Amino acid sequence: MKIYMLNPPYIPRFGRSMRWQDTGRAGALYYPIWLSYATAVAEQEHEVRLADAPAWNWSLEDVLKDVRKFEPELVVVDSSFTSLKNDIRVAQEIKKEIDCKTVLVGPPASQYPEEILKEGIDIVARYEYDFTILDIANAIEKGKDFREIRGISYKKDGTILHNPDREFTSSEDLDRIPFVSKVYKKHLNIRDYFLNYCLYPMVQIFTGRGCPYRCTFCSWPQTFMGRKYRVRSIDNVLDELEWIEENLDAKEVFFEDDTFTISKKRVNEFCKGYIERGLEISWSCNARADTLDLETMKNMKKANCRFLVVGFESADDDVLRNIKKGFTVETARDFAKNVKKAGLFLHADFIIGLPGEKRETIEKMKRFIREIKPDQLQVSVVTPFPGTELYEWLKENGYLITDDPEEYLDEDGHQKSIVSYPWLSSEEIVKIVDEILREYYLSPRYIPIALRQFLRGKGLCEIKRLFRSAMMFLKYSKKRQ
Ligand code: SF4
Repeated sequence: MKIYMLNPPYIPRFGRSMRWQDTGRAGALYYPIWLSYATAVAEQEHEVRLADAPAWNWSLEDVLKDVRKFEPELVVVDSSFTSLKNDIRVAQEIKKEIDCKTVLVGPPASQYPEEILKEGIDIVARYEYDFTILDIANAIEKGKDFREIRGISYKKDGTILHNPDREFTSSEDLDRIPFVSKVYKKHLNIRDYFLNYCLYPMVQIFTGRGCPYRCTFCSWPQTFMGRKYRVRSIDNVLDELEWIEENLDAKEVFFEDDTFTISKKRVNEFCKGYIERGLEISWSCNARADTLDLETMKNMKKANCRFLVVGFESADDDVLRNIKKGFTVETARDFAKNVKKAGLFLHADFIIGLPGEKRETIEKMKRFIREIKPDQLQVSVVTPFPGTELYEWLKENGYLITDDPEEYLDEDGHQKSIVSYPWLSSEEIVKIVDEILREYYLSPRYIPIALRQFLRGKGLCEIKRLFRSAMMFLKYSKKRQ
């Protein structure tokens, strides 16, 4: 059967797989990572075409032309909260164009299955969907009923049916999925994608999925990948790195796991295996501030790790408690010091507008940023996605301006605030985010921090990366001012 996997057109370079589902201020563009994993699974038995409209700057008309040519029987359309209406419309237009079944996937599918089906979509695949798509394709091909397929909602004779949830994948399942990097090579151009903390070009892969922590704002574990933590075997991950080194012109691999560092033991095993195999490609990962000690960080550095991307979120212990972050400011401070001691780079994430945010907590955050001097700084506008504990809390307390996620973004795909407190308005939240970023990156104090990356990192490659992010940030900043 022919299957068309589509990251639908929306705003150019819009990142559906990004945590905040927006257009990166510093030019970041994620791979359509989950669609790519589903492609890897489906391709074992079916003919699949993967199209990434935001990366290729494709319009709806470009997509329709491509779909007419490929003539798929099954079309899988990715979605995000901030682009949902657009994504449904794209699926509707494809359905008008060719005779096919449409499936909508992505985080909104688990929250709004009825609403999506009422818009004319044939099937909704809730939560993690790699193996669900394969089951759907096999059922259609064999003319079988959908009732045995777990994790989907669909219409039968005009009635909406919700099959039971599918179990999240196991560690063994993850080892069974072919390397996603092979999908990138076959279907995409790795030069289209960019992360401002990674050497260019880079590839993003998962070594594990799910996160057992309970941060109230975080959408992935609550609406998509679950809290069950499952991991690929170290050998399987190292085999993929070897394949990447031999077959792709990539300078770095980013481990997109919610938190690569949950198990210190696994991180150390990975580093040992990496060194034993004589691998050379750089890598970076998402990390938590309370999971690594200095020794492990030094091992990571020896194994060519560059950046740790860490969600500090706030510099106030009450705010951290309110969002169930699970560590204190002191832990974050020690972690930041150790990252530097180990010779790694730090990308620090903060959020403005979380419950308990006040003028004083914002001032504390500014002081903390000046103190830890991260190599890269990201400050986000608080973005409550439906299905998260944070969303429910804000709604119950009357702090949400709207519950339409499309209102989260401006016309360029950058974050607006839909949260407003009597003491901190939505406009102020956005203004403060922009101010903190400008003050950090455009101050002479950032020059030695950038220089450190050039001198201790990979020289010219670091300059190119920094220059590209700086240009994109300046463009963003000028437009916002
Ligand atoms: S640790 Fe990270 S990935 Fe896990 S819930 Fe918290 S913010 Fe989300």
